[in-house]
Amino acid sequence: MSENVRRKPPYEAAEIEAERQAAWVDRGDYSAPAPPPDGEHGVYVKSSSPFTSGNLHMGHVRDYTIGDAYARFQRARGRSVLMGFGFDAFGLPAELAAIERQIPVAGWVEECGERMLGQMQRLGYSFDYDRVFYSSDEGQYRWSQWLFLTLYDMGLIYLDDTTVDWCDTCQTTLATIQVEEGGTCWRCHNEVRLIRRPTWFLKITPYLEENDANMAKLEEQPWDELALATQRYILGRADGVEFELDAPGGPLTVFTPHPDAAGLATFVLLSPRHPEIDAWIGDEGVRAELEQLRSGGWERSARDASAVPVVDTGRSIAGPDGSELPVLISPLVDARFGPTVALGIPAVDEADRDVAERFPDRIPTPDPVDDVDGPKNHDMADFSAHQHAVEGARGAKRYRANDFSISRQRSWGTPIPIVHCPDHGPVPVPEADLPVVLPRDIKPTGEGNPLAERPDFVDVPCPECGEPAKRETDTLDCHFDALFLWVPATLPPEDRATQMFTHPESRKWLPAERQVAGGDSGGFVFDQRIVTKALRDHGELDYLTDGEPFAGVLFHEMVIADGRKMSKHLGNVVDPDELVAQFGADTVRVAVLWAAGPAKTLNWSDAAIRFANKFLRSFWTYAHDRFVELDGAKHDPEKAAETEKQREKLRGWCENGLGRIADDTAELQLHKSIRNLTRLFERIQQFEKQLKKRGQLDRVDAEALVAAILLLARALQPFAPHAAEQILINSGRFTSDDLPGAWPDAGTIPVAVDDALSGAL
Ligand SMILES: [Zn+2]
Ligand SMILES: [Zn+2]
Repeated sequence: MSENVRRKPPYEAAEIEAERQAAWVDRGDYSAPAPPPDGEHGVYVKSSSPFTSGNLHMGHVRDYTIGDAYARFQRARGRSVLMGFGFDAFGLPAELAAIERQIPVAGWVEECGERMLGQMQRLGYSFDYDRVFYSSDEGQYRWSQWLFLTLYDMGLIYLDDTTVDWCDTCQTTLATIQVEEGGTCWRCHNEVRLIRRPTWFLKITPYLEENDANMAKLEEQPWDELALATQRYILGRADGVEFELDAPGGPLTVFTPHPDAAGLATFVLLSPRHPEIDAWIGDEGVRAELEQLRSGGWERSARDASAVPVVDTGRSIAGPDGSELPVLISPLVDARFGPTVALGIPAVDEADRDVAERFPDRIPTPDPVDDVDGPKNHDMADFSAHQHAVEGARGAKRYRANDFSISRQRSWGTPIPIVHCPDHGPVPVPEADLPVVLPRDIKPTGEGNPLAERPDFVDVPCPECGEPAKRETDTLDCHFDALFLWVPATLPPEDRATQMFTHPESRKWLPAERQVAGGDSGGFVFDQRIVTKALRDHGELDYLTDGEPFAGVLFHEMVIADGRKMSKHLGNVVDPDELVAQFGADTVRVAVLWAAGPAKTLNWSDAAIRFANKFLRSFWTYAHDRFVELDGAKHDPEKAAETEKQREKLRGWCENGLGRIADDTAELQLHKSIRNLTRLFERIQQFEKQLKKRGQLDRVDAEALVAAILLLARALQPFAPHAAEQILINSGRFTSDDLPGAWPDAGTIPVAVDDALSGAL
C-alpha cells in the first residue's frame, strides 16, 4: 500500500463526511434500489413524514438515525432495502408560518423542504432521495382526491354537522390551537364562539372489528409494546354484556362493561349520536337542550368527565327487574363506549356515580357494592358474583374509536373534489377531471376563507347538469393525506401519475417491514390500517390480504433536555446542525442511538456526545496506528504458533460480539448494538495488551488484530457510516467501490499460522 494511505490521518469529521457522502452519490448508493427478485420480499423502512417546518429537530434525528441504521444493516445482510421518505406538507403549521411572513404558502413549503433534505443528507441518511415527495404536490394530492372519491363511493365518507370554533371578527373557523386559553381568538383576541357547520367525515366503524381481530397477529410480528398499546388504546375496546329492554318504539339494546352488576342499573345513558335518539325526545324543551348540548361544544369539554353535559329526557324505561330506569343523554357514552346505550350502575362505576349525583331526584343513591367485579374479601364468599347478572344477557363488546371529521376551512390543503349544485346537492368531480388544483398564489391572512373568495376556483358548472354551481371550499385535513403517505415511495416517481395504488413494484415492498415513528403517531397508524382494508376491499391493495400496511412498527419516545420538552420558550432546544458542525454526523448518530433505548424518553445531555465522539476518535486512532504497525511486524513461525490460542479466543469474541450486534440491530435495540460495539473494541484491545506482555506482536498476531479492527469497522458502518468506511479504505484493503460491503464474518480472523500468511495478507 502506498505511504499515502498508511500515514496516520487525524479524525477530521467534517472533511471525512463530505468526502464519503460525495462518494455515495457517485456510487449510486442513494438511487432507487432494484426491487427484490421474484419470490423475495424487500425491506421497506418507512420513516416519519415530517411537516415542512424548515428545521429537523432532535426527534427527527432520532427517528431517521434508527431507520437508517436498520436500512444499512439489512443491505449489508444482502436484502433489497428501500428507505422511502416524503413530507406531510399540507396543514396548519405551514399556513401559520406563511401568515406570519405574509408570503404564499407553496414557496415557503418548498424552501423548508429543501433545507430539511440538506440536513438529512448532511447526517448521512441513506434515503432514496429520488423518491422524495411532498403531499402538497399536484401529482400527490390528486391521489388524496381519488381516495376521497373512492371512499365516498364506498359509503365511507359522509357529510354531517359538527361544532367548530368561529371568530366573528376574522370571519373564520379556528383550529383548537388557534383558540387561546379563556376562549379568545389567537389573531384578534376577541371571544370565539362555537357554530354548527357541515363537515366531511371518514367512517371507520366498519373496520374496527378487523383492526381488533388483527391485534393478536400483530403481537406475533415485530410490533413493539408502545406501538401495540397505542392501537389498543385508540380502538378502546370494552368487553361486557348486552341485552334488550322493552321500549315504546321497540326493544332498546343496552350495554354494560359490568356483566355481574347489570341488575343493579339505576339509569340508562344514551349517546347523542345514537341512531334511535329521536324516539326519546318527545318534549320540545329536551330537544332544545339537546341542540344546545350539540352546539355547546361538548367536544371541547368532553375530556373533563365531571363537566360533561347530561340531558334528562324526562322519560324512563323498564329495567330487567321491572324497575323504572330514567333515560339520560350524554356524550360521556361516546367517550367511553362509542355511540351506543350504556347502563348506569352507580353501585360499581365511578363515572356513573358522578352522573347519578347530578340527578338526586331522579336516581336513587345506591349502596356501594365493591365486590361485584370479583370478591376481594374472602369473608364475603357468600356474596355471589353472579347475583346481579341479568338472565339472557349475551357477551358483547363496544369500541370507543369513531368516525372523525376530515375537512377544514383552510386554504393550504387538498381541495375536496365535490361541487355543490342547487339541484343535485353535493356532486363528485369525475375522476377524469382530477386534480382539482389548489391555486398556488394564495396568501392566507388568517381572515375569512381565502378559497371561497376566489371566483376562479369556486364558480364551476355542475358535473351532472352543467348549470352554475359552487366548488366545495373546505380542504382536506392533512391527516387525510397522511392515510397513504406510506405508498408513494414504493414506486418509481414517473409512474405515480397513473399507478399510485396499483404498481407491481409496490407489491415487493408492502407491507413495510418497519415503520419507525414517534410515540404520538398511533392515530396515524390506526387510520392507515383502516384505509388499507378499504383499498383491499376495493381491489387496489388486494395483495395485502389482512389489510395491514406494516409488518413491523417501532415507536420511539421523544427527545427532551434537562428533563423537559425542548422548546424555544424554555431556551433548551438542541440544534442538530450545531452539533453536526461541531462534532460531525457520525458522533451525533452514535450519541442519539446510545443515549436511550427507543422505548425510553431520551433526556439529551452532552455526556452522550462526549461518549460518542470519544469512542469514534479512539477507534479511529487505534485502527490507523495498527495499520502502520502491521507494516513493521516481523514473523517467527515458532513464536506465532505459541499464540494460536489467543487468536482463537479473539475470533470467538468477535463471533460472539458480531452475533449480538446483529441480533440487537435486527430488533432495533440500537443502544445495545452500540454498547456491544464498544465492548468488542475493548476485547480487541485486551487481546493486544495480553500479547504485548510477551514483547512485539508477531506478524500473524498483528494480522489478526487488524482483521478484528476491520471487522469492527464493518459492523460500525450502519451507525457511523462515514468514519467506518474511511477506516476501511485507509486500511488499504478496500476501495470505495468495494463498500459498503456485506455484514462481516469472524472467520476472516486468522488463527493457524498458515491461515495468516496465505491469502490476502
Ligand atoms: Zn379573530
Ligand atoms: Zn346539477
